[in-house]
Amino acid sequence: MSAVPTLRESIAPLVDLIYPPRCPVCGAAIAQQAGLCASCWSDLVIPGEPACAACQRPFAGDSTGEGALCAPCLAQPPRHDGIAAGTLYNDTARKLVLAFKHGRRIALAPMLARLIAARLPPMEGEWLVAPVPLHRWRLWHRGFNQAVLLAAEIARLTGAELMVDGLERRKRTPALGGLGRKARMRTLQGAIAVDSRRRARLRGAQVLLVDDVLASGATSDACVPALKRAGATRVVVACFARVLDDGGMGRASMTEPHRS
Ligand SMILES: [Zn+2]
Ligand SMILES: [Zn+2]
Repeated sequence: MSAVPTLRESIAPLVDLIYPPRCPVCGAAIAQQAGLCASCWSDLVIPGEPACAACQRPFAGDSTGEGALCAPCLAQPPRHDGIAAGTLYNDTARKLVLAFKHGRRIALAPMLARLIAARLPPMEGEWLVAPVPLHRWRLWHRGFNQAVLLAAEIARLTGAELMVDGLERRKRTPALGGLGRKARMRTLQGAIAVDSRRRARLRGAQVLLVDDVLASGATSDACVPALKRAGATRVVVACFARVLDDGGMGRASMTEPHRS
């Protein structure tokens, strides 16, 4: 720990004076910036055990044996090497993501990243932390890529190397919210590729692929093969909120995530 306060720490009292801290989900007064009120904290659902050995999807019962796979992974083995989700998508997680992404509460990044980091598998050896890319038009419109902010915080927390520009969006894709699985895959065909200048660095690398919300998984499914073709040996998907399509877990209210 450094004795010198970070810029964020040293301006925090000033920020609190100008903007009294409020819970970004419900607006209740809270003790300090970049936190949640106790009630909203308790509404967040942390994915638990037992879970699918391949994708960490929590199982409803507790009778499932070690190494068991969920139905989607049995039907189609995933190309990633695991999913680390900070929370399961529900109304509170949705509001938090909206505040972060569209409400420009970018000061939420460290808190969201800590929740993700708490769910990461043991990271032995060298890892690269790579955000899911935004198309430059969307980046221009929003002003920042929320996945980059999360990836930067996770890299800081884990000591892994941040690779912001490893992946690029080659084409602009519409919001995937209302599309079925096949249509999503078609839409993303050829949309994401590895930057040729980063190919050498990715060879033999272990990669943590970071996004804010993991909905259908179509976007990460497009990133993972691109990374593996470039020679990445292992790609773990990390997200703040994971949507479980079966609706049975996590008390999640299954409104379409990317529509609002
Ligand atoms: Zn609250
Ligand atoms: Zn699974």
